[in-house]
Amino acid sequence: MTLMDQTQPATEVTTHSPVDGRIVASYPAADAAEVDAILARARVGAAWWAALPFAERRAHLLRWKSAIALRAGELADVIAAETGKPHGDAVLEVMLTLGHLDWAAKNARHVLRRRKVKAGLVNYNQHATVGYEPYGVVGVIGPWNYPFYTPMGSISYALAAGNAVVFKPSELTPGPAVWIAERWAEAVGHDVLVAATGGRATGAALVASGVDKIAFTGSTATAKKVMAAAAESLTPIVAECGGSDALLVAADADLDAAADFIVFGAMGNAGQTCAGVERVYAVDTVHATLVAKVVERAERLRTSGEDAQYGPMTLPSQVDVVRRHVASALETGTAALGGLDSVHERVVAPVVVTGVSEDSEAVREETFGPLVIINPVASLEEAVARANATPYGLTAAVFTRDKAAANRAAAALRVGAVSINSVLGFAGVAALPFGGVKQSGFGRIHGADGLREFSVVKSVARQTRKAALNLLTMDRTEKDLHTATKMIPMLHGRAKGAKH
Ligand code: NAD
Repeated sequence: MTLMDQTQPATEVTTHSPVDGRIVASYPAADAAEVDAILARARVGAAWWAALPFAERRAHLLRWKSAIALRAGELADVIAAETGKPHGDAVLEVMLTLGHLDWAAKNARHVLRRRKVKAGLVNYNQHATVGYEPYGVVGVIGPWNYPFYTPMGSISYALAAGNAVVFKPSELTPGPAVWIAERWAEAVGHDVLVAATGGRATGAALVASGVDKIAFTGSTATAKKVMAAAAESLTPIVAECGGSDALLVAADADLDAAADFIVFGAMGNAGQTCAGVERVYAVDTVHATLVAKVVERAERLRTSGEDAQYGPMTLPSQVDVVRRHVASALETGTAALGGLDSVHERVVAPVVVTGVSEDSEAVREETFGPLVIINPVASLEEAVARANATPYGLTAAVFTRDKAAANRAAAALRVGAVSINSVLGFAGVAALPFGGVKQSGFGRIHGADGLREFSVVKSVARQTRKAALNLLTMDRTEKDLHTATKMIPMLHGRAKGAKH
């Protein structure tokens, strides 16, 4: 049975190097009973973990972080072996991820501790507090493109919020999941982070297992299936899905900087980045110059050998999607660099196409490969309108020297995150929440909102004394009701604060 053919439950998954096809490792494929057993272990871990004070959880998380950091090169090897990405890219992935783990560990108490809120004049006799409590066990389902960074966006924040985690990694990249769970076992030693390896069937079993929340990162199509299955038990989910992200270039932009970032955002990791650059809208006065600068940089990229700057496509069938999108782009557009010949058996060389129809599949759907479309527009406003015109809304980038114009564009873009004068600028800033709108998903990982995403909000109102106006009784007096009737216009009759 192949990895992709999982109609029959497999008993194990075997991973292969996308670079040379050699077998990397085999892992058990957990069936429903095994997932239930893993969840039972995690429930025990969750009870221990949730009962710890924030300070102790922070200490354990930082010990785990240190255990990972001290062997970062080894983890990078594990990531690179199964994804096929260059070792240097894997090292950066580890560094970026540990920044988030550090932030989550150090900020959980400040963000989530119980706090007093104002009870208001009428409720002066209530001491009101709001607290953020763990769900219990969070099931994290991850993709293969950044097999450490993307699931850790959920895992770090879910753990810091006091939850245990059962992590079902992609069947293409279970290595990092097993590796970090081993480091957890050594550094902390309770079943608070447990890996459940396997394919789609294992993921589906996790969703149906009775886990308290699902954090899904992957394609929009799978997110819909996960959401439908989770609906059976009303299990809440956070969905981090695909995108077709746009980069907007105004007439006054620094074109060299824009070209550098376009090539990095579109071609880095062979284009297999959820928030990578797939479409560029450049104001027509600078369009030709920008295309030339992008081509000049992209054609220098090395895509094979020891010093390759990006690797092969990790998912073999993705090559067909990229080929289809290149063909789709070329139906209406003009190749500025490469074309169908750039799509090899596993490696895709950079492709730049201009003047592509906005209705084409290449523009509207996620390519997830090193193809970038650069279309001319009349103005930054038109660029925003085109950026917003796809079913996705993950992130976007704007290049201009005009701060006010950049802020106006950022406000008008229907996405979850915007970079100004860079790409992916938000990804490393741990305090910034990350997530999409529309078909790119919902819910947020990272930052304070990421911590709250993995928390149950609980309100407590403690009565400190008897109310002078006692309305919460079946024996309400006429006098109290009369007072209340007189109070309503006093409290709410004047539209105080309505002036603007
Ligand atoms: P995928 O949807 O094929 O698989 C994602 C995970 O879901 C895998 O672990 C898979 O085994 C599991 N799965 C598959 N069917 C399932 C089911 N019925 N029930 C439960 N689990 C199931 O995605 P992929 O190919 O691994 O990843 C690439 C996609 O992920 C791209 O669309 C990319 O844009 C997206 N992505 C999004 C983000 C983000 O943060 N928004 C980050 C990285 C990747």
